[in-house]
Amino acid sequence: MAMQKAEKIWFDGKLVPWDEATVHVSAHVLHYGSSIFEGIRAYATERGPAVFCLGPHIERLFNSAKIYRLEIPYTPQEIEQAILETIRVNGHKSCYIRPLVFRGAGGLGVNPLDCPVQVLILTMEWGAYLGPEAIKQGVAVGVSSWRRMAPGTFPAAAKIGGQYINSQLINMEAKRHGYVEGIALDVNGLVSEGSGENIFVISKGVITTPPLAASILQGITRKCVIQLADDLGYEVRQEAIPRELLYIADEVFFTGTAAEITPIRAVDGVTIGQGRRGPITKRLQEEFFGLTQGRLPDRHSWLTLVS
Ligand code: PMP
Repeated sequence: MAMQKAEKIWFDGKLVPWDEATVHVSAHVLHYGSSIFEGIRAYATERGPAVFCLGPHIERLFNSAKIYRLEIPYTPQEIEQAILETIRVNGHKSCYIRPLVFRGAGGLGVNPLDCPVQVLILTMEWGAYLGPEAIKQGVAVGVSSWRRMAPGTFPAAAKIGGQYINSQLINMEAKRHGYVEGIALDVNGLVSEGSGENIFVISKGVITTPPLAASILQGITRKCVIQLADDLGYEVRQEAIPRELLYIADEVFFTGTAAEITPIRAVDGVTIGQGRRGPITKRLQEEFFGLTQGRLPDRHSWLTLVS
């Protein structure tokens, strides 16, 4: 997807023109993937743009930093304010927000601790991640031959730049096979997640999603959808899901900041349910989009108005 330039990028405490936000080629991050990041969305509402789950995203950013032993030279409040300011100066009605904290230029040894920590906040217009039709029609996906990282190798619960090589391999393989996205299994062969999405499976009215121990990222959309399903009275389980249960499920869907709630209509060429968005997925989407777009009362305080 082509990137739509915004006017300004927040870079180490200053708003700089998009084209001037550059780093040196010796930056540690470029060589070793030494970064942590977030992906956040701001939705257009009647009261202007509103950031969805800003607090939880910033909390996860600081948790990723803690896991990777990286000191962010700002407070969570400063990063939150910087995000709101960047959205304001760029005049977005809605946007995708990418805070990135990385190790800059300071030597090419593997040990990063002498490299300066730099912070940027990028915003851009971004529509439906898996295609404009995906939210209604659903997507066809395939189980990847690439597994998610094994416990004790990479910290799956942290959003660390270098780990996204795994996601890239999963996604590129899926596209090569004609799928929109791939589903990765964990090291034990149980369902883990998409390359950038968590996954939910619905059978006989019960909603199941893999547990944190299945090498997943602790998705913020996942958590919200669990809450919404609970609000609607559905039983939600966080349980190991064998691959074959995907094929015989009534409904399957992805969640993610970029993917929002995207129905899955086929896995490995096997039609899921009726081969289109199922009724529970639709019901959850109505709640989710109603809340994010400010059409329903913000009963869980998930929105932060930009101005
Ligand atoms: N898993 C992975 C690997 C991801 O990159 C993402 C996107 N951040 C998700 C799941 C979904 O997480 P969230 O709902 O917080 O965007």
